[in-house]
Amino acid sequence: MSTGSKAEVRSSSTKYPVYERFYTWQGEGVHLGRAAYFIRLYGCPQHCPWCDSAGTWHPEYRPESVGLMDAAALAEAVAAESPDGAVVIITGGEPILFDLVPLTDALHALGRRVHIETSGIAPLRGDLDWMTLSPKPSQKWPLPAVVARADEVKIIVHDPEDIQAGLDTLGGLRQDAVIWLHPEWSRARERDMRVLNAITEAVKANPRLRAGYQMHKLYRADNLDQHSDKRLIPLGGDTALGY
Ligand code: SF4
Repeated sequence: MSTGSKAEVRSSSTKYPVYERFYTWQGEGVHLGRAAYFIRLYGCPQHCPWCDSAGTWHPEYRPESVGLMDAAALAEAVAAESPDGAVVIITGGEPILFDLVPLTDALHALGRRVHIETSGIAPLRGDLDWMTLSPKPSQKWPLPAVVARADEVKIIVHDPEDIQAGLDTLGGLRQDAVIWLHPEWSRARERDMRVLNAITEAVKANPRLRAGYQMHKLYRADNLDQHSDKRLIPLGGDTALGY
């Protein structure tokens, strides 16, 4: 699946702010369990109150400095730190804010499959093999063109009403796109049955929906890589900590 073309190839002088990069496996969605190299880019204007990657934007958790890497350096790191066959997942933060054409071109030149995880708030620039859209209905909504491009959707459920609010953002979604309902992690960890049961009932009422879970957090799989950020980012929906 391709959204790019030769005409779109930009100068490789583009630099990306890399918050962290690590080799692990995909812990959620259709590609659950696949070996995956994650590139987490810095910066996100969405400021979700339960963000579990708040080191990419929150004033109290962001690092003092973030390294810049160009597409060639990132491709070199991917090749050195993960074997052929591992997919590359570009996430954030909000990676759709960046021109990803040089990066996706460099990763495809390695023969890697390239995925993105995004809230969809800007036009997509890059040739992606898979898009996971995670709309943030209480923040800025995804652009219709990005919704139409999504291969799967991940709606984060902190409260039962988040299910319908997330679905409301998805006008124009392809019929074959998978829609996951994920308990927000603090709710999942606390076994909040109000949220878990709401997901169960929603799936039973609408077979298009699927119940999801962040399996990598049970395994703590990301922590095994020396490069991953191991700090706890305890926003968890607490607006005193988040926004
Ligand atoms: S869109 Fe994602 S990275 Fe940005 S604040 Fe929300 S959960 Fe965090």
